Amino acid sequence: MTVYLIDLDGTVYRGLKTIEGAAQKIDEIRAAGHKVLFFSNNSTRSRKDLARKLSEMGVKAREDEVCSAAYALVLFLKERKKRVYFIGEESLRKELAQEGVALSEEGEVVAVGLDRAFNYEKLAHALTLTLKGAQIVAANDDATYPTHEGIRPGAGAIVAAIERASGKKALVLGKPYEFIYKVLKQMMGEEEMVVVGDRLDTDIYFAKRFGLKSILVLSGIAKKEDIAKSKIKPDEIIPSLAHLNLSPPTSP
Ligand SMILES: [Mg+2]
Repeated sequence: MTVYLIDLDGTVYRGLKTIEGAAQKIDEIRAAGHKVLFFSNNSTRSRKDLARKLSEMGVKAREDEVCSAAYALVLFLKERKKRVYFIGEESLRKELAQEGVALSEEGEVVAVGLDRAFNYEKLAHALTLTLKGAQIVAANDDATYPTHEGIRPGAGAIVAAIERASGKKALVLGKPYEFIYKVLKQMMGEEEMVVVGDRLDTDIYFAKRFGLKSILVLSGIAKKEDIAKSKIKPDEIIPSLAHLNLSPPTSP
């Protein structure tokens, strides 16, 4: 059995549209006796909401099949038991509160996800707290993300604003960093894992860093020209998830 770590944005969907053949391939992976784990740097939604979004788009998904940067942030903050000033959106805010994270304007940690209502006031408050010694923790540092309306600034652009103002560096939890790898290991143990994703700097770099097999899809951010220019080389390149060749199932 192989665990397929499947990225979402640019791999399963682009904005509100699923990528052709993705839903069928995911069914096929399960039917062949392998496991699917949706492995995303999404930093706005709880696991439950992300699984629901996938299901509504026709991609079968359970909450426990999601491992995201948002989830990494929840686990990190739960462990730390500190007061948290949260910059991010409602779905994730709700999950943090449900998990017992103490959300407060007087945070000892400034936690950052993508926040499409980010503004100068929030930046100023994050600066005040970091100057008092608060740690900056980011779900991801993606510069951009693709939507059906084009490329938009990602959580990394917000993190960069806080870093620039405070002169401090954020601890980043999502792909390609170590914290989310530890989360994966906890979820999947010693199973063989294959990363499938559309970005060289997060998906493929993550796989290389932690010794996993990597497959790049060309249905999202990375284009053929980018691979030639980059030092990060995937093990395989396929046009889209629909073209994934499954490993033969291991006999019991
Ligand atoms: Mg992606």
